[in-house]
Amino acid sequence: MEEVEVLIIGAGIVGLAIAERLSQKYDCVIVAEKEPSFGRHTSSRNSEVMHSGIYYPQDTLKAKLCVKGLDMLYAFLKEHEIDHKNCGKLVVATKDEEIPILEELLENGTKNGVRGLKILSEEKVRELEPLFKTKSALWVPSTGIMDTHSVMKKLDFIAEENGAMISYNTEVVGIKKTDDGYIVTFYDGFKVKSPVVINAAGLWADKVSEMVGIPAEEHNYTIHFCKGEYYKTTKYKNIEHLVYPVPDPTGISLGIHIRINLNGELSFGPNAYYVDELGYGMDETYHRQFHESVSEYLDIEFDEMWQDDSGIRPKLQNKGEGFRDFVIENEKEKGFPNFINLIGIESPGLTSCLAISKYVENLIDEEK
Ligand SMILES: Cc1cc2nc3c(=O)[nH]c(=O)nc-3n(C[C@H](O)[C@H](O)[C@H](O)COP(=O)(O)OP(=O)(O)OC[C@H]3O[C@@H](n4cnc5c(N)ncnc54)[C@H](O)[C@@H]3O)c2cc1C
Repeated sequence: MEEVEVLIIGAGIVGLAIAERLSQKYDCVIVAEKEPSFGRHTSSRNSEVMHSGIYYPQDTLKAKLCVKGLDMLYAFLKEHEIDHKNCGKLVVATKDEEIPILEELLENGTKNGVRGLKILSEEKVRELEPLFKTKSALWVPSTGIMDTHSVMKKLDFIAEENGAMISYNTEVVGIKKTDDGYIVTFYDGFKVKSPVVINAAGLWADKVSEMVGIPAEEHNYTIHFCKGEYYKTTKYKNIEHLVYPVPDPTGISLGIHIRINLNGELSFGPNAYYVDELGYGMDETYHRQFHESVSEYLDIEFDEMWQDDSGIRPKLQNKGEGFRDFVIENEKEKGFPNFINLIGIESPGLTSCLAISKYVENLIDEEK
């Protein structure tokens, strides 16, 4: 049987970031990915925004890893000359009642360590972005956008250069604990033995965790699929800053905001609704919701926006429930030492990926 030192399940941005880091320390790292290439799911279907960390409750992993991960990501993008833009973001209040929410975000963000936050008057916002309807806005200077595909390509490249093996078309179908590690079975019956297994399986992380013997329901690890769609427009181009409404009070999403890409193209999204099955098709019935939401802050006709793409959030928070943090655990207390679970890695997972990889490195117990 093949033996390795670390086996990572999933080659989304998180699995690749972990592979990049651990391949510097261990000689024999393997990543098993069921798809034919990296980032075929959530890591390629998102807003590509590098978040600042203003939204998340203090001392949560989401807050800490986002703030730390943002600095690490900017440094990585610069070092490897990957296309990105530190464009900054405006959270706009379109009604007087929303202004206190901006103040709360400023206070929360500052406590989380986000620098440079400022409330701007209507006039100041117009100087920055004249098209938007607003009473006031929170200015978040550290937010940016990046070329996520190139980040993943680079992480994959560095990991392989360091000797890691990224095995595509390799679905993990079974995991068995032994006295000194785990035997992981692939779809074709091939087995690999590893003392360290890292579950970075995104939308399927609860199922992978169940394979080793951690029932999702019992441990509150069940993932709920929450879809987010985008609509695009050619009416406006070259808007300089990201513009977000105040966040949804249920905490399910950050609200339908503008998404700008590095070519200056504009889209709107994501919305948020729970689905039972994986599928990236768009539901036309939400077109009206998009139009109404965007019209709150920008003049646009119903027919000036059309369907773009969608992604699915791996949410621990179910419908009607409150905030849930990332789960990133060495499951030794459940009887599975050095089986490291990453569950519910929704936004800000892209932003946090490099900080997550460092956190995971520190969780690995060298002497179990
Ligand atoms: C609509 C939307 C917008 C978002 N916007 C942002 C944003 O602007 N900024 C931000 O920071 N974050 C954002 N996110 C969150 C971010 O995209 C995710 O947190 C991140 O991509 C998660 O990466 P991952 O590697 O954990 O998961 P994934 O990219 O889903 O990777 C998991 C991988 O595991 C593989 N896998 C699963 N099961 C198995 C198995 N049994 N065997 C082998 N392989 C397996 C899958 O094929 C997949 O490739 C957004 C998410 C969504 C849905």
